[in-house]
Amino acid sequence: MAEIQKVVILGGGTAGWLSASLMAKLLTKRIQITLIESSHIGTVGVGEATIPPIIAFNNALGIDEKTMVQRTSATIKLGIEFENWGQYGDKYMHAFGNIGKAFPFCDFHHILHAAKEHGDTSSLWDYSLNYQAAKAGRFAPLKTIPNTQLTGTEHAYHFDASLYAQLLRERAEQMGVMRIDAQVSKVERAENGDVRALLLDNGERVEGHLFVDCSGLRALLIEQTLGVGFEDWSHWLPCDSAVAVQSELPSDYEPVPYTRSIAHDSGWQWQIPLQHRMGNGLVYCSRFMSDEDAKEKLLNNIPGTPLNEPRIIKFKTGQRRKQWQNNVVAIGLSSGFLEPLESTSIHLIQTAIIRLIKHFPYKGICASSVHSFNEQFSREMTQIRDFIILHYCLNQRADSDFWRHCRNMELPESLAHKIALFSDTGAVFRHQDELFTEVAWQQVMLGQNCRPAQHHPLAEQLSQSQREELFGSLRTLINNTVAQMPTHADYLTRVKN
Ligand SMILES: Cc1cc2nc3c(=O)[nH]c(=O)nc-3n(C[C@H](O)[C@H](O)[C@H](O)COP(=O)(O)OP(=O)(O)OC[C@H]3O[C@@H](n4cnc5c(N)ncnc54)[C@H](O)[C@@H]3O)c2cc1C
Repeated sequence: MAEIQKVVILGGGTAGWLSASLMAKLLTKRIQITLIESSHIGTVGVGEATIPPIIAFNNALGIDEKTMVQRTSATIKLGIEFENWGQYGDKYMHAFGNIGKAFPFCDFHHILHAAKEHGDTSSLWDYSLNYQAAKAGRFAPLKTIPNTQLTGTEHAYHFDASLYAQLLRERAEQMGVMRIDAQVSKVERAENGDVRALLLDNGERVEGHLFVDCSGLRALLIEQTLGVGFEDWSHWLPCDSAVAVQSELPSDYEPVPYTRSIAHDSGWQWQIPLQHRMGNGLVYCSRFMSDEDAKEKLLNNIPGTPLNEPRIIKFKTGQRRKQWQNNVVAIGLSSGFLEPLESTSIHLIQTAIIRLIKHFPYKGICASSVHSFNEQFSREMTQIRDFIILHYCLNQRADSDFWRHCRNMELPESLAHKIALFSDTGAVFRHQDELFTEVAWQQVMLGQNCRPAQHHPLAEQLSQSQREELFGSLRTLINNTVAQMPTHADYLTRVKN
């Protein structure tokens, strides 16, 4: 086995620069890293909403909140509000963080379910600090609700992806990553099928021992060169297109600390507020909506004036059959794609890099590491895939063929089981390393009107008056805590200065 001393990263999008930054931070004493990107080809240019684990990843890179807010036009994200997803006119939020009070053996929503049978009219989200702060347009980073053991806020960011990539590039280059701006025109292979070198259109030849394919949807090394194949999931997630446009913020607009996801008749629209502009996009299924109709629909539904021409992006949902093959590891869009409904792609990039570093083949590539890497990636993707399908299949909309199709499609067995268990008993279980928590699943299921037939008997251990007392004190604590928080805009100003 050949020692790995030279790593070549192909691609300078979010995946390329995230990979370069963390590898440079942790590995450069032992390896040399070169990143090749083509400014002529450019990046996908979307990907601006994230989920809370980005904070730990940024911390590992030495990027704190002040830097994010100053350098990437970041705003705070406390969750995603889903509009029109259950029935037309419905609204609910997948708010990050916990809800209510944790009880051993029986989740909080069972207590609420029991109380509702005795006339309680409150909603699950009355007990979510993140939701209440989001809707009040307020934020403060809190580990706990003051003077209690109840968990505090949990947040992520909306940011300008190109500014984030620039920040990462600066850090990576400072740590010794070599950057080449050129286009790969040919890939040179070794007898065993490994990639030996990349030949560039400027005449350079770049050799490497390990190649990280961050070439985006082109998947130049993992697919075009090694042909690993693709597992297509579009029968479960039929959207295959997006149109994206940036718009000015209206003059009196204050960015909300959450993403909006608004279902329309053949897909959904995102609104991602940054400090200086709004990111907008419409994800749709080309079988049910034409590109022209999608553009028109998006432009008719954005706040403020568009800042650029709407851009159409085509994609296929699914994963590569292998993300690591020979000496090529695919990270980012080259490894597979899940639509941005739950903002999971950047997270998948981060976990893939961490996984690669944990499996890093200093002394040469072993089949066991490759197998373990691929198996972990696939498990993570499948779990997230199910969570995204959940939003589509639990709709009750009767207004379009698209929604009827989504409601009636056959589900992956893993998801069908999860929905059946929740409908029958209210139980939901998170696998050991699953990204989305029980509370996340509960919010989407309840938010889209999937009501359990019963609650756990332990919910009856509290009498109705005890439940009411508990609910009243939780609401008071949450409302008082939110009232003490600065507005989202004030928070951003304070952090920046
Ligand atoms: C519509 C849409 C919305 C999204 N929204 C979100 C979101 O809200 N949150 C989220 O987490 N993710 C989101 N994503 C995913 C996110 O955009 C990507 O995961 C992220 O941008 C990483 O992309 P990438 O770096 O893999 O690819 P790209 O950004 O496409 O970068 C590819 C790189 O490879 C280089 N390259 C390609 N071919 C060659 C060649 N021959 N020679 C040299 N260089 C080459 C390019 O120049 C470029 O630098 C979204 C994706 C889409 C399609």
